[in-house]
Amino acid sequence: MCWRILLFTLIVSAVATAETEIVSERPLVVPLRIRVARCDGEAVRSPEWVQTHIEGAREIFGRHGITLQVQVDGFEPSQCELVGRAARHRLARFVDSRQATVLVVKRVEDLDVPSYNLMGVHWRYRGQNKAFRGRRWVLLTGRSRPPVLAHELCHYFGLHHDRAGGNLMAPGPSDPIFRSDGPKPAPFKPILRPWQVKALRRGIERFLQEQSATPVKSTFAGVRSGKVELE
Ligand SMILES: [Zn+2]
Repeated sequence: MCWRILLFTLIVSAVATAETEIVSERPLVVPLRIRVARCDGEAVRSPEWVQTHIEGAREIFGRHGITLQVQVDGFEPSQCELVGRAARHRLARFVDSRQATVLVVKRVEDLDVPSYNLMGVHWRYRGQNKAFRGRRWVLLTGRSRPPVLAHELCHYFGLHHDRAGGNLMAPGPSDPIFRSDGPKPAPFKPILRPWQVKALRRGIERFLQEQSATPVKSTFAGVRSGKVELE
């Protein structure tokens, strides 16, 4: 390779790297709606409880330039303790597909291990009502702890469990990995690895583009490299 070509190649790759870094550092704002179930006339969890969870998620995401723009309100489901798939699907009508929605309910029983009550789960509507197709949301339960919201939001934006563990996406206690032979995941830590941050940011960008969330739409204008990266 002639040195001129080599030099040109190096400059192009340096510019490309710089652009990638600028794009990856760009602040992202996620519109999040947290809806707290009212059961027997009372919210299943207090505003302070909700705030603690929001702050827990903000602390983890804030390290990576991701801001949660949260709106909190209430909703009145017919059931606050969810057993089985149908009970989860029935909550689709409380979900606004333009925002990432979190529904706080009293209890959600694990589908595979009935003796276990989940702390949270990312759920997709797969019922019969065509109007609800494509809706998905996070269920946060009364026994959740603050890192769970961040974990479930990562699922919402496309991250899977990391079977090696040692980070925010370590599998939960009801995961089949804990009932099988073989190596177990390293203990949970409220951190994200660089590849997880990259995947999370890409998932958020895709979501913001798809949903055309108004507070962030302007941020996207003119960022063509981001669009190419997503496709
Ligand atoms: Zn999970």
